[in-house]
Amino acid sequence: AVHIVGSINIDIITSLERLPMPGETVLAGATARLPGGKGANQAVAAARMGAVTRMIGAVGEGDAGRWMKDRLAAEGIDISDVEVIAGEETGTAYIAVDGEGENQIIVVSGANARLKAPAPVEEGVLLSQLEVPVAALAPVFAQSRAIRILNTAPALLEARCLFDFVDIIVLNEHELGVYVPPWEAPFSHEDLAARARDLLARADQAIVVTLGANGALAIRRDSYRHIPAVPVISVDTIGAGDCFCGALAALLDEGRRLEEALPIASAAAALCTLGRGAVPSMPARGAVFDLLSG
Ligand code: ADP
Repeated sequence: AVHIVGSINIDIITSLERLPMPGETVLAGATARLPGGKGANQAVAAARMGAVTRMIGAVGEGDAGRWMKDRLAAEGIDISDVEVIAGEETGTAYIAVDGEGENQIIVVSGANARLKAPAPVEEGVLLSQLEVPVAALAPVFAQSRAIRILNTAPALLEARCLFDFVDIIVLNEHELGVYVPPWEAPFSHEDLAARARDLLARADQAIVVTLGANGALAIRRDSYRHIPAVPVISVDTIGAGDCFCGALAALLDEGRRLEEALPIASAAAALCTLGRGAVPSMPARGAVFDLLSG
């Protein structure tokens, strides 16, 4: 199974003609409420790719937390390890988007910041991101025998202590720049691979650097490989990284090797850019394999 330790947020999205300046009030038409949080997004991506998926996370008391648990359960995700934390609010992202697609986002961590270290994961794949406390992740990464994937998003320097205990790190170019400064993009694939290797602690580890419409690089200690993006007409790339990670976890859980799983995860992420938002545009397994078979 795929075991995801991560954030659960509710996204409150408003569309505005233009974003407010400090001290300014602008009026908006309507708000939309969408499931969000990198953990929850990746869990939906893994489940739609066909994996038996378990979400380990925390929500607050009240309606928002119940709504998020219902959204995850509706995807067939096991939510028995989603804790409800008394007196806490569910993580919430307040998102404003203007006419050009530019945005402002305020995230209240809420219950996510109170997540405690889960028990070790003995089988399948463990997948986490950095919207929950590093202190909660350290023991589970150190003790689990599952394949351990860490998506270092958002990039936090204090998370470097986890790198010895992961099998695969997934991060985008911007996040790589946080860990290996100084950063003066653009870099060639060769240079990116050389710099990413600084983060490898063991010969059996791999780093996957996602490059948006330019695909991804899979980097090992003595080799690297480019995985092209699947060309599509993208509408919005929100959630592409989360889709990539969730799909990758599901494919590794099926027993595929990393190099075999990556082009499939790349196709899933390309499909995710065809629709707006993260969770609504996570593709079903059939659509991903249809895209690959042309
Ligand atoms: P993040 O969302 O974390 O910034 P990226 O933008 O690097 O991550 O995207 C993750 C993956 O999604 C890429 O490696 C690629 O496979 C796929 N992807 C992203 N943008 C596009 C796009 N415009 N066209 C096709 N695939 C894309």
